[in-house]
Amino acid sequence: MAPRILIVEDEQPLLEMLRYNFERADYEVETEHNGDHAEIRLKEAVPDLLLLDWMLPGLSGIELCRRVRQWPVTKHLPIIMLTARSDETDRVRGFETGADDYVTKPFSVGELLARVGALLRRSRPLLVADVLKVGDIELDRSAMLVRRRGHTIHLGPTDYRLLEFMMQSPSRVFTRQQLLDNVWGCAVYIDERTVDVHVGRLRKALLQAWETDPIRTVRGAGYGFDPQP
Ligand code: CA
Repeated sequence: MAPRILIVEDEQPLLEMLRYNFERADYEVETEHNGDHAEIRLKEAVPDLLLLDWMLPGLSGIELCRRVRQWPVTKHLPIIMLTARSDETDRVRGFETGADDYVTKPFSVGELLARVGALLRRSRPLLVADVLKVGDIELDRSAMLVRRRGHTIHLGPTDYRLLEFMMQSPSRVFTRQQLLDNVWGCAVYIDERTVDVHVGRLRKALLQAWETDPIRTVRGAGYGFDPQP
């Protein structure tokens, strides 16, 4: 599943250049050019990483970063700030904004991609790992293969994405709406019962030869993924 990155930058050519390069590097990219709009967007959906320009029209990047650190849902969101050389003073660097990393303009795209990749590996290892292993189930992203105790499990693309998403947060319970937003995407309208159909199919595939059901149904809440070790 492509990591989702929100890029907030008011220089349009730079924003377009970043979008182009991150999309080429297999990120799902969303963009905003104004701090206030970015704040609204973050309240609607939390990306996997926020790339935030220091000076923005509307709410400044510094203030937005500070607020993001205060909201419970975005408290641990990985943030990289883009700063102009003139902002780069000790006073500014020592400012308690809570960004995880800073990149000074002008920067090379290669360096920025490397810093973003490093931060994601550090903060969200399961999002970028080549192989996810939870309990006796293994999902190999490079080969798009799922195995349970060494046996290959055949899954359709949606069921594969559903499993991949749930494997990133083992034991956590997801509502049907959260699964729809993350696996099918926020933009599409699909009935919540579709989730039940796919969970049923995934469960059946994972259970073919085994006794233990790795998917937990939580009545009135949703689904969790806890296979046995
Ligand atoms: Ca700016």
